[in-house]
Amino acid sequence: MVALLSFLKAQPDKQFCVIFDDLKRFARDAEFHMKLRRELNAVRAKVECLNFKFEDTPEGEFIETIMAAQGELERKQNRRQVIQKMQSRVSAGYYLFAPTYGYTYEKVDGHGKMLVPDGEKAEIVRTAYEGLAAGRFRTIAEVKRYFEEVSDLPRNKHGEIRFTTVSEILRRPLYAGLINVPTWGIKNLLGRHEPLVSYEVWSKAQSMLDGKALAPARRDISEDFPLRGFILCGDCGGQLTACWSKSRSGKMHPYYLCAQRGCPSKRKSIRRADVEEAFEEELQSLRPRTAILSLCKAMFRDAWDVRARDAQNVSARLRQEASKLQIKIDRLVDRLVEADTPSVVTAYEACIERLQHDKRLAEDRLKNGSNPATSLEDTFELALRFLANPWKIWDTGHLGLRRTVLRMVFLEPVSYCRKTGLRTAKTTLPFNVIGDFSDTKCGMVDPSGIEPLTSCMPCRRSPS
Ligand SMILES: [Zn+2]
Repeated sequence: MVALLSFLKAQPDKQFCVIFDDLKRFARDAEFHMKLRRELNAVRAKVECLNFKFEDTPEGEFIETIMAAQGELERKQNRRQVIQKMQSRVSAGYYLFAPTYGYTYEKVDGHGKMLVPDGEKAEIVRTAYEGLAAGRFRTIAEVKRYFEEVSDLPRNKHGEIRFTTVSEILRRPLYAGLINVPTWGIKNLLGRHEPLVSYEVWSKAQSMLDGKALAPARRDISEDFPLRGFILCGDCGGQLTACWSKSRSGKMHPYYLCAQRGCPSKRKSIRRADVEEAFEEELQSLRPRTAILSLCKAMFRDAWDVRARDAQNVSARLRQEASKLQIKIDRLVDRLVEADTPSVVTAYEACIERLQHDKRLAEDRLKNGSNPATSLEDTFELALRFLANPWKIWDTGHLGLRRTVLRMVFLEPVSYCRKTGLRTAKTTLPFNVIGDFSDTKCGMVDPSGIEPLTSCMPCRRSPS
């Protein structure tokens, strides 16, 4: 409008005419309309109405004001009607704002236009949440790297996805099927759209994010030094850092080194190849014999059956828990209705919200507990392939997979001594168990002949 006014001002010798309806549509309210009108008068532009002649008299001005005010009223009424329609649609469980990543809108019979999972994008979001919940991703930075590898999310000029974009995706209750519209007082309403992840997975991901420092993971953990942060100095126990350094011939060489103050090994570099070869040798040694693997399989199957039997008891308990929580919620709602002090109301509301969270979790477990996500065979195959040879996964060279191997195989970081090499690593339970068997004669025995061993499985002891 400013541009138009200055354009008009720049041409004092010409007569311009503005259509009243255009002006009415442009001005937000009657007051603004009359202000624009005065500005237009100042540059001698005439305002014409197609079906009414405004006179340049106080009466004419009055009529124009009324007409502008009527326009404003209509606009406000329309707005109110649209909002009311939207509110009632949202209250019925339909999300209707811009679709978020992983969802798109589609016409669904009996529902009209509604949110539906958006193919591959939905899968990417699901993987991110499940990875966080399972501990495969530990920070937003790790999810960000994953998104950068697989997704087409918008990037900045450095080709990176912004932290806020990733964090927003990881904090959206919509993916767990819940709708929130704070301005309309709608909080965690159960939507009709298909959730991408269960409420349990979503909540786990949230506590993962809350519990961890959200600082970006060190940028220098790179493909070049996959063991950085995992190998400790054998002298002082501090983490070894890594660097490339230039030799006299100008060639770059990779090193791990200790940077701790006061350490006798401070700044004494260890060739990367020495550290990594020693580590890879250790990892390669973690290969149980085939006989032990089939024993493992038998133990898994045993544990699986016990769990399946337990599952029924668990379902009954969860169902009971959910109905108890509902009773508590109802009671609190009754009291909330009678409460008249704002502080009491807030306290009740917080309490109800907490109970609803617990109830959603219980219902979620109930729903997902009854039908396992994968078949017994699939689960076995995956676990056994990993147990059979973690080295193979390491050898893919994929940084994310390599970190997963470090987390799943080793209980804690491993020390490397400049003189004696790698110290014995503490492995996680599956490898401990397999390792113990490898040491004893049991590994040689046919698995069917050592039935008593299976009774060592902790799940056996749980009440069935
Ligand atoms: Zn040191």
